[in-house]
Amino acid sequence: MELACLDLEGVLVPEIWIAFAEKTGIDELKATTRDIPDYDVLMRQRLRILDEHGLKLPDIQAVIAELEPLPGAVEFIDWLRERFQVIILSDTFYEFSQPLMRQLGFPTLLCHKLEVDADGRVTDYKLRQRDPKRQSVRALQLLNYRVIAAGDSYNDTTMLKQAEQGILFHAPQNVIEEFPQFPAVQTFEDLKKAFINASDRELVL
Ligand SMILES: [Mg+2]
Repeated sequence: MELACLDLEGVLVPEIWIAFAEKTGIDELKATTRDIPDYDVLMRQRLRILDEHGLKLPDIQAVIAELEPLPGAVEFIDWLRERFQVIILSDTFYEFSQPLMRQLGFPTLLCHKLEVDADGRVTDYKLRQRDPKRQSVRALQLLNYRVIAAGDSYNDTTMLKQAEQGILFHAPQNVIEEFPQFPAVQTFEDLKKAFINASDRELVL
């Protein structure tokens, strides 16, 4: 029995914080873990900036609702779900991802959670667990699933290693070079072929 695990941001949808920063014109929100490696420091800064701009969860969701999945992503996930059980493993937050997940037909998503007060102010965040993508794949393997996983960046690599087959999609050159054991593809057509190749069933495009 096979299961497909997909990263969300950079694979099916744009990087949510960067797209949000562009939509709102708040350049400070473009910082990522490449600029501030300590994730907690980065998240505290993001929450402080949201506060400074008086942005509450409904405002943020309204901006995110204007974002769209990457071109071809909706067709791809429909294709994949006809052939695999699909689970999205993401480091985003349920509350932010919801407008984009709606456009993807609400596939199963395992990610993190925000704490929001009665006025809609984002007060804190809760990570589900450490190394959540790899732990999710491990747990699914304990249920006797064979896992094929695809992601675009460093936060996916432990998931790709844990899976029976990992695939890099839309990955930057430095990640491709650092992890030559994973096939690397750039288009949804090639990603479909990579899933077919990785499958132990006779699937067709
Ligand atoms: Mg990603």
